[in-house]
Amino acid sequence: MAVKRIVYIGGGPCTLVSLRRIAEETKKAGIEVENIVITKDKYHYFPAFFPDVALGEAEPDDVRAPVENFTSELGAKLYLDEVTRVDPANRVVETKSGKRVEYDYLFICAGTRYAWEEYPGLREASYHNYTLEGALELRKALAGFRGGDIVVLVPEFPHRCPGYPFEVLGRLVYHAKRRGVNANVKLVHAVPMDAALSHLFDLAVNWHRIHQEIGNIEYIMGKQLERVDPGSKTIFFKDGESMKYDLLITAPPCRVPKFLEDTDFVFKKDPRFLDTTFPTFRSRKYDDVFIPTDSAMPSVNLPFAGVPVHYAAVAAADTVLSELKGASGPILFPDVLTIVLDFGKTGVLVTFDVKEAPGGVAATKPYIAITHPMIKLLKYSFYAGWIKSLKK
Ligand SMILES: Cc1cc2nc3c(=O)[nH]c(=O)nc-3n(C[C@H](O)[C@H](O)[C@H](O)COP(=O)(O)OP(=O)(O)OC[C@H]3O[C@@H](n4cnc5c(N)ncnc54)[C@H](O)[C@@H]3O)c2cc1C
Repeated sequence: MAVKRIVYIGGGPCTLVSLRRIAEETKKAGIEVENIVITKDKYHYFPAFFPDVALGEAEPDDVRAPVENFTSELGAKLYLDEVTRVDPANRVVETKSGKRVEYDYLFICAGTRYAWEEYPGLREASYHNYTLEGALELRKALAGFRGGDIVVLVPEFPHRCPGYPFEVLGRLVYHAKRRGVNANVKLVHAVPMDAALSHLFDLAVNWHRIHQEIGNIEYIMGKQLERVDPGSKTIFFKDGESMKYDLLITAPPCRVPKFLEDTDFVFKKDPRFLDTTFPTFRSRKYDDVFIPTDSAMPSVNLPFAGVPVHYAAVAAADTVLSELKGASGPILFPDVLTIVLDFGKTGVLVTFDVKEAPGGVAATKPYIAITHPMIKLLKYSFYAGWIKSLKK
């Protein structure tokens, strides 16, 4: 049998987990494969760690490691290049430098695109920690902040890591207290509280309770953003109301990566996201393409976050492995997902019961499993360990 070529687009957690699973398991089984990673950035980042950089609790090298470190360890080829097109009919990936890379299996692990341009003034007015550069700028802004209104703005939902804005509120209160600065921390969110926390009002009530313990946080939910005027530091809403801020922190709106726009990989019901299937994370249209990256999670009702990506990457890799081995092993996706959140003074485990639902999607039920300061340590150790394990 000819050696199968598996191509992975991206160098983030989705690629790392899928590649590691396939490389290690094929080695054990004595199956020869050719693994190729194509990514545009020489670093692997752990974006969930960026808020720690913004808050001065981690440094850039704590949150990134060269992609080359894990591709070389796992025997994969690395092309540092930007993918410009996928041609699934001919099983080819095209790149900016002019490469045409053929594949037998493709893993689309390209994450999401931050679409600041959707709202006038948003990019110029906002600080954020959705990139490392953004986190370093936010760190400077927080160091220079002398008091007033900090607004955490969520113009669209779902966005990358739905729990993040709730989490960062507590961390900002804690950060201001430590510095002896007077901060009024407000969350301005696009959807009502119960919808933001997906079907479960109890969960929303719990967030309120936790935040009240931490400090005074104002919630302004269900506000549709129109634009921001950085000059007068004013946010304008579609209902005609406006709000002043002293420091604006935004969770950016998300869209599919440019090279996948207007393709069969887009989720037709909501083209901000990619389309995948549960529990194998195989493309609905192309049998040889897997999409376990986070911007596909909303299409199967899973949270738009890294924890489901981890399990999705394992499930997709196991599906390919069972085909390579000529076996039809079970595709395992856990019944329970746990997302670990750091609220500054304490930590929270948000748990999702997960079931398979008709139509190749999942049904989830979220609840808060435990609130305890030790959870903060758990989160920090997990993040720091992830990157440390990739250092040479
Ligand atoms: C502030 C913040 C807080 C978060 N907190 C949490 C949390 O508490 N819990 C949680 O579970 N998740 C959290 N997340 C989300 C988590 O970080 C992401 O879900 C995870 O990184 C997704 O992994 P990925 O590999 O799918 O995408 P990414 O990590 O975005 O990786 C995508 C890769 O694709 C590459 N790429 C993109 N386009 C191209 C192209 N055209 N050609 C070549 N390469 C390309 C990129 O360079 C990158 O290497 C958080 C994220 C942020 C930003």
